[in-house]
Amino acid sequence: MSPETRKMIIPLEALPEVGGHIQTIDGQDYLVLNDAMFTFYQRSQGEFSAFFLALRDKKKLLGCKCTKCGIVRVPPFLTRCPDCDFAPTETVEMGDVGRMLCTPPITYFANSLFQGQVPFGRGRLVLDGADTALSINIYTTKGILVPGIVKKDTEMKVVFRDERNGEITDIFCVPASELTPEQVAKPGLLESELDWEAAVEPALGAPTADDEAKFNAGLAELSALAEEMKGAERARRDIAGWHRVVQVKSAGGFLVLEIDDGDLRVRQGSTDKPDFTLVCTDISTLVNGMAYRGSLTQAIITKDLWISLNREFTTIFKLERMARSLARTKKV
Ligand SMILES: [Zn+2]
Repeated sequence: MSPETRKMIIPLEALPEVGGHIQTIDGQDYLVLNDAMFTFYQRSQGEFSAFFLALRDKKKLLGCKCTKCGIVRVPPFLTRCPDCDFAPTETVEMGDVGRMLCTPPITYFANSLFQGQVPFGRGRLVLDGADTALSINIYTTKGILVPGIVKKDTEMKVVFRDERNGEITDIFCVPASELTPEQVAKPGLLESELDWEAAVEPALGAPTADDEAKFNAGLAELSALAEEMKGAERARRDIAGWHRVVQVKSAGGFLVLEIDDGDLRVRQGSTDKPDFTLVCTDISTLVNGMAYRGSLTQAIITKDLWISLNREFTTIFKLERMARSLARTKKV
């Protein structure tokens, strides 16, 4: 077939040898050339994808298996195997336990789209019986996700969101070691079946005189800070509309931090029903963060500050923003 009679996929005017021209921007000439990219595959999308339908409606993970070489790919992104002269693949149902292909990075500062989900890991999970890895979000049920909890080869269980929309975020995974054997074995385990409050608090040693002195100084500084908040418009905005009762435990003593729509209140002691708990050996870890001399996030990552609920990382963000605003107000 001659090029003239061949049916062209790329229009003639977009061919690399055709569309070159000089473009002048701010008196400077630039050579602009056409370039072409080809993708030769078909794929199903959205409501017609068997993989996403199975996630949403059946709480199942699908893969595809080559009928010739037997390679199992998850997700099932090929209907024909490129290694076997395009032999057809067949859809297979996968289990929902696997191992991490490598140590996943953890996101603490996400863009606004994922702000409510931090911190989360994002890694590649090789399901049992699969030959390729699935990209998936990673959480821990034991407080905040910090480095060291999930590594290469860590056994993970896939968990399904209670509300599913046929998207990859309908699933995430948690370390199998955090679950009971029954939960690990259960197909289609739901998010609501996990015990998110099961985090084990780090133990604090018996207080020394030094610990107690530090605690008293910390309590005094936090109380002064709460007082300053009353006139700090900008800092008040950072915790506006937010209500949290936080139990803070340190070796030298306990205190309750209350965030109440712009107001900050501090008192010594305990509360029965905190929204979450912060534990640090040295109370200055918290005080430094609140006074903008240190970072609460960094303290959490380095395990100097322990937080009982992953989702309350949002509150930590607000407190850090508040601390910065308050420090700037004082400077002015
Ligand atoms: Zn094959």
